[in-house]
Amino acid sequence: MAGLLPVDEALARVLAGAQPLPEEWIAVGDCDGRVLTRDLVAGRSQPPDDVSSMDGYAVRAADLPGSLRVIGESAAGRGFAGSVSVGEAVRIFTGAPVPAGADAVVMQEDVGREGDRVVVTGGARPGKFIRRRGLDFTEGLTGLSAGTLMNPRRLALAAAMNHATVPVHRRPRVAILSTGDELVEPGTAPGPGQIVSSNALALAAVVRRAGGEPTLLGISPDRLDETLARVRLARSQGHDVLVTSGGASVGEYDLMQQVIATEGATLGFWKIAMRPGKPLMMADLGPMRLLGLPGNPVASFVCAMLFLRPLLLRLAGRGDSADEAEEAVLGADVPANDLRADHLRATLAVRDGRLVATPFPVQDSSMIRVLAEAEALILRPPHAPAAVAGSPCRIIRLDS
Ligand code: AMP
Ligand code: MG
Repeated sequence: MAGLLPVDEALARVLAGAQPLPEEWIAVGDCDGRVLTRDLVAGRSQPPDDVSSMDGYAVRAADLPGSLRVIGESAAGRGFAGSVSVGEAVRIFTGAPVPAGADAVVMQEDVGREGDRVVVTGGARPGKFIRRRGLDFTEGLTGLSAGTLMNPRRLALAAAMNHATVPVHRRPRVAILSTGDELVEPGTAPGPGQIVSSNALALAAVVRRAGGEPTLLGISPDRLDETLARVRLARSQGHDVLVTSGGASVGEYDLMQQVIATEGATLGFWKIAMRPGKPLMMADLGPMRLLGLPGNPVASFVCAMLFLRPLLLRLAGRGDSADEAEEAVLGADVPANDLRADHLRATLAVRDGRLVATPFPVQDSSMIRVLAEAEALILRPPHAPAAVAGSPCRIIRLDS
């Protein structure tokens, strides 16, 4: 089979020219999974004062041990206005500002309270149980850099630095179109020869996990006018990406070729040296990148993992995330591979501290059930020799 395009070359073509999407400002509470377009600088110092890290008494270390007069109280958010002089203490709670004059905190468990006096038998070094102003961060510090992928912990830091809104890359808007005369939506009664369309819903879920916003454009029959109408709809809606499934085999791609030509773009149609999923289409319709995946459910999913997901991560500003492969060992013998990179559906287990990937015995690329039970794809490079159980292999997890 001449003219097969290697997987990494196909990926490079899919990613060519794709840039992180423009900036938008969103509520800090909504930024989980988004990528910052700018540094976030602390608008304040944290803690804003020297504060106690214990419930107890604020004292002068030089007065210890001793019996001290309790002259007031400092609670979180309600500090003590006065100052602590020789022989005095202030009742203090965790997070409360340490009053002027005091230089240490003694734990309440370590003192005896007698009326308005507190008896401290031990000593304390200056600074004991005090969190210094700015211990966490100081005003002006870059707490989070541009390019950071936000997660719940970083979201907390952005909020603590007093950002109500944060600048992030816009999410990729992705239209999804199924093509095929035989397809019906889940929940309908399929007629003779019809099958239930599952690809689009799976693709939408992949899009969401990669940080995109999917829009389902339904099922197009294998007719030029219908397909063209939906492609034009996707363009008019301002999507960044249009993903199609089906209609990518040789006879059928003529249809897509006509659609693309009618829209005035150049169709890239490649046969990729991979299994499952050989054909892949790409075209740029103005700012919208069209990615045509095979209709075969497993091929459509694997191509989405290998090509669509990296494209969306790139658009969302999430770097290259190129090689997410991990080392594992084979849980079963595998035969020598031909010239197409293979992606064996496999289960994962940890045995003797090693990650073991066991391929399903039947790898037919139409089998959605096997795909659903799989946890990983074993990557078999072109021309890989036969390998026995226990040999090293590379895998990609399917639930990333
Ligand atoms: P195609 O690429 O259109 O030749 O489709 C290849 C195979 O995938 C055929 O058996 C189709 O019925 C099946 N198929 C196509 N689209 C879908 C879909 N959206 N959901 C499930 N199976 C599909
Ligand atoms: Mg079809």
